[in-house]
Amino acid sequence: MAADDDFVKEITKKSVDFSAWYVDVVKKAELADYSPMKGMMVIRPYGYEIWELLRDQLDRMFKETGHRNAYFPLFIPESFLKKEAEHVEGFAPEVAWVTSGGGEVLEERLAVRPTSEAIICSMYAKWVKSWRDLPLLYNQWANVVRWEKVTRLFLRTTEFLWQEGHTVHATAEEAEAETLQMLGIYRKLAEEYLAIPVLTGRKSDSEKFAGAVRTYAIEMLMPDGKALQAGTSHNLGQNFAKAFNIRYESKEQKLEYAWQTSWGATTRLVGALVMTHGDDSGLILPPRVAPIQAVIVPISAGNWQQTVLPQAQKIFAELKGKGLRVFLDDRDTFTPGWKFADWEMRGVPVRVEIGPKDIEKQQAVLVSRLDRKKSFVPWGSLAEELSRLLERIQGQLYDRALAYRDANTHAVNTYAELLEAMAGSRGFIRCGWCGSADCETKVKADTSATIRVILDAPDPPSDSCAVCSKKSLHTVIFAKSY
Ligand SMILES: [Zn+2]
Repeated sequence: MAADDDFVKEITKKSVDFSAWYVDVVKKAELADYSPMKGMMVIRPYGYEIWELLRDQLDRMFKETGHRNAYFPLFIPESFLKKEAEHVEGFAPEVAWVTSGGGEVLEERLAVRPTSEAIICSMYAKWVKSWRDLPLLYNQWANVVRWEKVTRLFLRTTEFLWQEGHTVHATAEEAEAETLQMLGIYRKLAEEYLAIPVLTGRKSDSEKFAGAVRTYAIEMLMPDGKALQAGTSHNLGQNFAKAFNIRYESKEQKLEYAWQTSWGATTRLVGALVMTHGDDSGLILPPRVAPIQAVIVPISAGNWQQTVLPQAQKIFAELKGKGLRVFLDDRDTFTPGWKFADWEMRGVPVRVEIGPKDIEKQQAVLVSRLDRKKSFVPWGSLAEELSRLLERIQGQLYDRALAYRDANTHAVNTYAELLEAMAGSRGFIRCGWCGSADCETKVKADTSATIRVILDAPDPPSDSCAVCSKKSLHTVIFAKSY
């Protein structure tokens, strides 16, 4: 099968050059491609289908918790963006501006939204009048633009797709509860659907969202020892309510500023999936977000189109009828071996083979993408066995990612240990922190690692700050990040 070998050779090995492997897989599996505009990508149907599957899960969880979708304009007048001082300062370097339209120079330039707090808050100021209007729980699915200098497919692109939730509450406690609830939903999506374990916690002041009181995040550890921030949830306090004059009349008939949150997750999640689970042969998709959960490959030998193919079609119809996402590869222009390699590269979790011998035995062969183990299953129990195998693969992928993260999380007590860990395989460095920005800055200057999260489940390795040895106030995770 020389052809198959050549095919797989076109992908750089993950173990040899992780970055090159990532780009090869994204492009060869047809998830995305570079566009003529620098830093902007085209999401191809297979990549978009993954996004749709995880988007649908998020959307379902948002709606189950009382949120509704709405849509706000792409452009934000400059004066709106400037209302919250910290916010505009944080986003200014990344904003793209529209300065003319319809052949005329605009009186006020318009920002292409880097995030929508400014436009949404201006509307909330109109809509929120009384305590009866609260809570206001809206989300929008949209694209945003942040002018990036260095970009990578899915992970950091100038334009990306995301959802941004924006809520308004009557009390500080409700806003905090909402912020944490949404963080929990991101954790659920990551762990139960993407099969990627996450650490959750608060961001330090230097890493929090521009304009927020507190930012929480889910953080994943990628196979190159770098952290990926994969979803953030912000408690905005009254910062935007004061800047945009969002006030409501309380039950006591007093005029009060409202409390707000915002939270977002992006197409970056697709990149996280690719990096976490793939191998030297290409992509491996967790079954719950795989556009094709099983591919049926009839073995083309002899008069297969009269014997094997009709049975393969029957199996396809039956599995599809049971709600499984299946595809029948009945192309006669490729050999079965070529197809095996092709679907493995595209990360389809299970291959269903059926050949002349299987027809005699009234069975099919299930092959797991993860370990390539084969099982021979009678036609009658195929749907049941396939579902079971898919769930097993989902669990195996999570366990494998968790084992990797655990093996690459290093508890350190001293600065020497911290430096040593960062000079080695990196990973998540768990240590005590005194809370001083100086210690945080020193680590960044020496190792380029930043505090990814202040852990909400501390388990401190020691009582002292790993940098200055003073009393530790928090247990944090340092890592180099994407
Ligand atoms: Zn310190």
